[in-house]
Amino acid sequence: KKYLEESSERKILYNEVIELKGNIRVFCRCRPLSQVEISNGSSSVVEFDSSQDAELQIISSDSSKKQFKFDHVFRPEDGQDIVFARTKPIVTSVLDGYNVCIFAHGQTGTGKTFTMEGTPENRGVNYKTLEELFRIAGERGGVMKYELFVSMMEVYNEKIRDLLGENSNQPTKRLDIKQAADGTQEVPGVVEASVYNTEEVWELLKSGNKVRSVGATNANEMSSRSHCLLRVTVRGTNLMNGQKTRSHLWLVDLAGSERVGKIEVEGERLKESQFINKSLSALGDVISALASKTSHIPYRNSKLTHMLQSSLGGDCKTVMFVQISPSSLDLGETLCSLNFASRVRGIESGPARKQV
Ligand code: ADP
Repeated sequence: KKYLEESSERKILYNEVIELKGNIRVFCRCRPLSQVEISNGSSSVVEFDSSQDAELQIISSDSSKKQFKFDHVFRPEDGQDIVFARTKPIVTSVLDGYNVCIFAHGQTGTGKTFTMEGTPENRGVNYKTLEELFRIAGERGGVMKYELFVSMMEVYNEKIRDLLGENSNQPTKRLDIKQAADGTQEVPGVVEASVYNTEEVWELLKSGNKVRSVGATNANEMSSRSHCLLRVTVRGTNLMNGQKTRSHLWLVDLAGSERVGKIEVEGERLKESQFINKSLSALGDVISALASKTSHIPYRNSKLTHMLQSSLGGDCKTVMFVQISPSSLDLGETLCSLNFASRVRGIESGPARKQV
């Protein structure tokens, strides 16, 4: 009974939080100005309206303002708990059998990893989600039996690596995407680690992150040029009628979206940035096709969208965090990210409303 009550409570919350208009939500999160930016004298170009929690305005160098509207805008002072409160009803619906994808998109340094992974003192969406999944699974113990599995993959230059497949001294396993008999996309051979508590997941993430940076001259650089995907598979059995469910939650820290100057880029770096551009625009195309309910959804244009095909669209739920920097020095990239996000959401941005 409690399970049913909670499930319908969550449905109400879900509908309340995100209104009844499709399954795709775009949240914008603006990080605070950093100490370095403050001491460099760079100012904030982002303005928030105290009565509008879904809008922001960008002040351009010629002082003109451009307004953007999303499903919600998180401000620099909004902490991890506030962000998670809005995300929670969506991510935990994986226990009700929904497939869910959460993406963090934006220029390097805007807080993608902070939002998804967080820090040990300030844990992000990934950790808080797992904590919540274990909590609800425990509470439903009399009605549902849940098993949780975690996989961790990286897409770098359109190649998929299994980050839990090997230890850091060995080359990582190459993976590919196959269509299963039921038409869903699978990644055969990927390690699915059975997990029972958040600490185990945290340890797995640490070991996956170590593997991720092997071969990179700079771990930070590597993480900004590849997509990191954490997949939580939930297998549920209804103890009353024996019915079984299987659903996926994907938590995706995308590669940095910054454009790299033509002059400074050549060789490997150029190839990398072309692969990143291609996959980020493929993702944008898929989400905007889904939002506009187009019949052809171009999943096959990148490994990322192809791999997520079964978890994007239909009654799957999608959240994109568009991360931005408030700094005047990042204005160009901020506008690019906001325009990308507006296109994804199918919402036109426009000149700022007149202040009265
Ligand atoms: P990205 O993953 O986009 O490259 P990071 O998550 O590494 O960016 O964030 C860059 C820096 O900014 C980190 O030091 C991070 O702790 C800090 N930061 C990002 N977002 C916030 C925030 N909302 N509040 C406080 N610090 C933040």
